[in-house]
Amino acid sequence: MAKYIISLDEGTTSCRTLIINHQGEIVASDALEFSQIFPKAGWVEHDAIEIWNSQRTTLVQSVNKAKISVEEIVGIGITNQRETVVMWDRQSGLPIYNAIVWQDRRTADYCDELIKAGKKEMIREKTGLIINPYFSASKIKWILDNVEGARTLAANNNLMFGTIDTWLIYRLTGGEVHITDSTNASRTMLFNIHTQTWDEELLALFDIPKNILPMVKSSSEVYGSTFPGLLSKKTEIRIPIASAIGDQQAALFGQLCLEPGEVKNTYGTGCFILMNTGETPVKSSNGLLTTIALDYNNKITYALEGSVFVAGAAIQWLRDALKIIYHASETDWYTSLVNDDQQVYVVPSFTGLGSPYWDSYSRGAIFGLERGTRREHLVKATLESLAYQSYDVIMAMAEDLQQAIKTIKVDGGASRNNYLMQFQTDISQVEVVRPKNIETTAMGAAFLAGLALNFWASIDDIKDILIVDKKYQPKLDQIIVKKLLKGWKVSVARTFNWLKDIA
Ligand code: ADP
Repeated sequence: MAKYIISLDEGTTSCRTLIINHQGEIVASDALEFSQIFPKAGWVEHDAIEIWNSQRTTLVQSVNKAKISVEEIVGIGITNQRETVVMWDRQSGLPIYNAIVWQDRRTADYCDELIKAGKKEMIREKTGLIINPYFSASKIKWILDNVEGARTLAANNNLMFGTIDTWLIYRLTGGEVHITDSTNASRTMLFNIHTQTWDEELLALFDIPKNILPMVKSSSEVYGSTFPGLLSKKTEIRIPIASAIGDQQAALFGQLCLEPGEVKNTYGTGCFILMNTGETPVKSSNGLLTTIALDYNNKITYALEGSVFVAGAAIQWLRDALKIIYHASETDWYTSLVNDDQQVYVVPSFTGLGSPYWDSYSRGAIFGLERGTRREHLVKATLESLAYQSYDVIMAMAEDLQQAIKTIKVDGGASRNNYLMQFQTDISQVEVVRPKNIETTAMGAAFLAGLALNFWASIDDIKDILIVDKKYQPKLDQIIVKKLLKGWKVSVARTFNWLKDIA
């Protein structure tokens, strides 16, 4: 009988399910987009019930498409959008408010107050994070303070909090299991990454009762099993759920960045660059986050992380707002139409700048326009902005570590773009390596579930699965690179504090 691992990949815009065989091949998959809810400027919500329904539908659909029997499923692994907050009633199992998404900025003023109150260092020290609405704590507090009855529910021990992994596991187990893993916990701003415990001082600061929090587990172990009847009429069939890991950490593992110094960059809606720093949490002096990369085999691995908020989203902006391209992949071809050396720059700081600048007040800008600037210059400059923004993070990492980065392993939708990958390697002077299967996030969760269930005996077993598609080496003249980078530095700096300056 063939055996399979199922990976549930719950992202910011869609739920996906992949069915993976022992050779690491995807035998079937299914995906469903879900609603993005924008109740006010800067607010972003998801309907947690819709997420559960979509995830469940893609699970059932993919099993159906794969034409496998439920007995052949060894276990389920989960990877998810991080930081997003779901709060639900312990009695009914129903959410008391929409999920507040990581992108949501409603708690910006409160976060500013925390900074003014001098909490930056304490929070940094304990959690490795920078005070920002991005993380869960201020969103949990917002729900407790603003949703009627929330605090009473909590006082009666009837309120539960979870990130999306927690919510899906709760639902998949029929409400039996309330857990998260260390990687997801490390993004809440309530978890001490050194002691690996929920932190009493932070809970008091954010006024969050401890009884709503999930238990924190490793990223690879059996947490529980699916409720009877989820996938089969035979009620004795219950499938073990054996991994949970935040999406970016899953990609780091899926790319097999297992040794200190190994780096991956995911070019999706945003860019997320993570470096494995081994068993030592490295504190950044350059605006990067310190986070838990993995909790596996009784060992915590740490990472340095830099996030670029708008990357592939800038390509979507070319397509959907400016309407100057039809499809994201056309951008590669457009770059070949530029045969002059006009230095046009697009800084797509539509929602402010993430690492290493952390400037919420920056806004997007185009620089270097001339009478001869054409559509293709804009397309090329926008595409290059993904590489420049990633370059800034890579340099910040190299500075924190006091050593050059030699290789970046890449994945995500925009990593298919050959021009972008070559440009990235040229300006950063690092080798760029793209695997054949760029589904590294889903693969990371599948690997961890498979390891917990002895589907794969050891990490060595999975090393053969990851096949390299292409390696890019720097070719561009260093004098040109210097000139290009100078232009970028000046451009990005001119966008700083924009909203404050025009206020
Ligand atoms: P996410 O998981 O964040 O939704 P994906 O990894 O699916 O993102 O990548 C999709 C993003 O990548 C989109 O923002 C899209 O604009 C961009 N993208 C996809 N293909 C290309 C391409 N060939 N060139 C440039 N950008 C691309």
